[in-house]
Amino acid sequence: MLRFSTRKVLVIGLGLIGGSFARALRTRGLVDEVAGYDRNRGECELGLSLGVIDCVVDDLEAAVRKADLIVLAVPVKVMEQVLCEIKPWLNPQTLLTDVGSTKGNLVEAARRLFGTLPSGFVPGHPIAGTEKSGVGASDESLFVRRKLILTPLPETDPEATLAIARLWQGVGSEVLQMEVSRHDEVLAATSHLPHLLAFSLVDTLAHEAENTDIFRYAAGGFRDFTRIAASDPTMWHDICFANRDQLLAQIDRFSSGVERLRDAIERGDSQALLGIFTRAKSAREHFSRILARAAYSPDLHNHPVTFRVRPGNSINGRADLPGDRSISHRAVMLAALADGVTDIEGFLEGEDSLATLQAFRDLGVVIEGPHQGLVRVYGVGLHGLQPPVGPIYLGSSGTSMRLLCGVLSAQPFATELYGDQTLSTVSMSSVVEPLRQMGATIETAENGCPPIRITPVEALEGSEQPLRVSSAQVKSALLLAGLYTQKQTCIEQVKPSRDHTERMLGRFGCELKEKGGLLMMSPGRKLTATRLRVPGDLSAAAFFIVAATLTPGAELTLEHVGINPTRIGLLELLRQMGADIELINAHDECAEPVADIRVRHAQLRGIEIPEHWQSLALDECPALLVAAALAEGETKLHGAADLLAANNRLALMSEALTQLGVPVRVEGDSVTIRGARLHGGRVSSGGDPRVAMALSVAGHCASAPLDIDQCASVALFCPEFVDQARRIGIALYKEEG
Ligand code: NAP
Repeated sequence: MLRFSTRKVLVIGLGLIGGSFARALRTRGLVDEVAGYDRNRGECELGLSLGVIDCVVDDLEAAVRKADLIVLAVPVKVMEQVLCEIKPWLNPQTLLTDVGSTKGNLVEAARRLFGTLPSGFVPGHPIAGTEKSGVGASDESLFVRRKLILTPLPETDPEATLAIARLWQGVGSEVLQMEVSRHDEVLAATSHLPHLLAFSLVDTLAHEAENTDIFRYAAGGFRDFTRIAASDPTMWHDICFANRDQLLAQIDRFSSGVERLRDAIERGDSQALLGIFTRAKSAREHFSRILARAAYSPDLHNHPVTFRVRPGNSINGRADLPGDRSISHRAVMLAALADGVTDIEGFLEGEDSLATLQAFRDLGVVIEGPHQGLVRVYGVGLHGLQPPVGPIYLGSSGTSMRLLCGVLSAQPFATELYGDQTLSTVSMSSVVEPLRQMGATIETAENGCPPIRITPVEALEGSEQPLRVSSAQVKSALLLAGLYTQKQTCIEQVKPSRDHTERMLGRFGCELKEKGGLLMMSPGRKLTATRLRVPGDLSAAAFFIVAATLTPGAELTLEHVGINPTRIGLLELLRQMGADIELINAHDECAEPVADIRVRHAQLRGIEIPEHWQSLALDECPALLVAAALAEGETKLHGAADLLAANNRLALMSEALTQLGVPVRVEGDSVTIRGARLHGGRVSSGGDPRVAMALSVAGHCASAPLDIDQCASVALFCPEFVDQARRIGIALYKEEG
């Protein structure tokens, strides 16, 4: 049982907000009685006739004495006066809250009046409203899915806060808590300043007689921007007084922003202008995403999407593939840290690489695009990054987070990195520990999970000892940090891993040395802008290579695909199984080997796949399992225990293939698959995009149509997959909703 009751409510000030709250409480049956008091008796009568309140208060003293909860919904300017009036009649168990748009002035007034504040006093502010005033405009659904900020004080009883929070949740609001000063600062920037600018713009344009003509031609931009200038002038007048200091600070910040824009226009500085506009555009999209904690691409993760595949089509022709994911990340990072302008072609517009791109925008780098894979990065040099205005959000991209840890460990400003729910449960220890060895100051949440807080150090010293690494991402983070260290960075690779970062560093003019299995980078390096063409992604190609191999009569050429030796494990394994794969037109481009891959149909046979396959064909494992499922005889994967433990991709594939009639045996450290004829039916990808893509290939080779559920993540991960699959001949359809 709570100490505070909310059964009898008294609303003082029965206008838009007070009336809407009263209405919502009554219609949802959240309280026993709502009484209304307003200095304007007519508002109360109207409220009664509209069913907003149960009764009109004539005797304020009696109403205050019997109320469990008093809601002050009067203009901010008169809050103090009302508090002063009701103070003698308040009893200690009464809850007292308000809805005012500013909080500091109310709390100051309350302190002046009460000395020690009552424990039931919980200031509040609903972030909801309209341009209308008065109880006639009240709306019981005004607060649904809107934020409500509570600013409890040190004297406030937590149970009082809880009681008020429950009522607001009951009327549909999302309740947040903040300190009073933070509230006034945030609201000055996000609500008060925009309203004042809207008033000021309309006033400025309307000022001179001939300008009134302008309104006749006003297009959407003007109307959208100035809609809020139709709000209640008296209320905004009061807010200017109530939140004076914060507003002045925000007006000054805004004025200097406008001054910078004016200056760029006057000087004809197109880079500065593009910088302002691209940053603002992406920041706008970024804020919306953060608010929704959503993905970078327009599709949302949880959107239900089913893939339907009809088997039996032939596969023929040529196709190019989306840009390589790993290389896209590194291209943007090194381009941002280089001196000069880098043009990148073939950038993958997938969720992860977009997270990296946005992070560098947050760090002050001007980036144009991506537009059809083209990105232009105006590099700021190794020491030109700017402190971000807040924590950097990286969605679900572990690659972005690990690599950025390396770069940000060496910056002279503090940063915080965080991600969505999934990324928040992934440990970053493998990268944080060696960076600490290099002298970085990094804090994580429990078990090494994000958020990651990096505090600046004077200079990154570097490590005396060679740093042992077993993954490409950790190696890359250390190399990026190594660009800033005072000592040589020396890395020992425990097992082979992708070398895109080393190659890309070379392309930007920073060659590394390799000696006795150690990778070495000397200090004092700089990066020079270049031109890059990102090769097609071999991991994306894997699905089509397997599909063509398994389809009688197929001949498919995949153009300009990256064939980095650290990535071609799948090609080697498929060849051992009998696949007919030819690399033609092989050449080096932008420091990466590329080729066209020609695949013809071939009958596959099962093989023994040794333990080290994991590092060579990790991402391609689902595609490989489909090949094994349709090969003659048994395929046995050794050393799968780690993979089974580390992610559930292998388990998801085993489950789906079993449902499709393929015998899959997991025994200790190995997985055995006996090739079979695949049925159609319905399976789930478990939300894993690579599993969804591999099962699409399985469906193409099955004996009956196949439905694959939970495929929304494919659009985020590999936006062009469905179109591309159809283009080469796979009858794949996407069903949404
Ligand atoms: P409103 O529609 O004008 O309602 C305020 C009511 O309070 C009016 O009926 C007013 O009467 C009455 N009042 C004024 N002084 C009083 C007094 N001394 N004793 C009793 N009643 C008195 O205003 P509102 O938009 O609901 O705003 C109310 C509060 O909500 C303000 O503090 C505002 O900052 C806050 N708020 C507003 C919005 C919004 O978008 N409107 C959003 C969030 C928060 P008169 O008409 O005679 O003055």
